[in-house]
Amino acid sequence: MRYKAVLFDLDDTLYPYPPCNEAGKEAAFEVFRDLGHDIDRARYDELYAAGRRATKRELTGTAASHERFIYYKRALQQYTGTHDASDALRLGEAYWGAYLDAIEPFAGISGLLADLQSAGVDVAIVTNLTTRIQLEKLARLGMDDRIDLVVTSEEVGREKPSALPFTTALAEFDRRPSEAVVVGDNPTADVGGGNAVGTDTVLFDARAAEGSGGGDGDGDGGGSARSAGTIAESTLPPPERPDHLVRNVAELTEVLT
Ligand SMILES: [Mg+2]
Repeated sequence: MRYKAVLFDLDDTLYPYPPCNEAGKEAAFEVFRDLGHDIDRARYDELYAAGRRATKRELTGTAASHERFIYYKRALQQYTGTHDASDALRLGEAYWGAYLDAIEPFAGISGLLADLQSAGVDVAIVTNLTTRIQLEKLARLGMDDRIDLVVTSEEVGREKPSALPFTTALAEFDRRPSEAVVVGDNPTADVGGGNAVGTDTVLFDARAAEGSGGGDGDGDGGGSARSAGTIAESTLPPPERPDHLVRNVAELTEVLT
């Protein structure tokens, strides 16, 4: 094995995010209509986007900036002009429930984690979001036994690309950056963050291969550098250029093993 520790991102790295996000948004749309609000999907999408934008504007750099309960609470308030706790909860729960029902790992990723584990490599998930939902995703993915450590931005109080989530994992493993690699789909959060602390970095750009490009990347931290699903390395600013750019799990396995 080439590395003694591998720090994986979660969203869009262990599983494709766009189908989950779409399932969640569709389920919450149905709840919105069940609550008696006669709107079409386009108007609902605008409300969701407005709730998301307001949350990002005020909370960027915090784990709460990705929290769908906040997006829906704000969207509902904007639409109805008043507050309703039960309805806001129903929308957030519908979103996350359908999201988790749709979650499926990238083909081959569980086998890769098992190989790393049996070779004695330390495996961490380092992720930008609140802890509870990230734990639920990992439990649903069935990968819990193959992961040694989970570090969320909520727990350390800083989001990737801050060094703190990465150095927290390295300290826990008692590994130096030179012994570790960061693997993730986000050039800024994952590659930029890993480069800054001195680990090797892998940009895992599997979305194009999955044919699911162009989502908003709000699983954990943005994805704004990606427009059509395939990242061209030459378009990345030097601090965000990875040591390895891979498009699928087979290529990732070659880099890590
Ligand atoms: Mg990600």
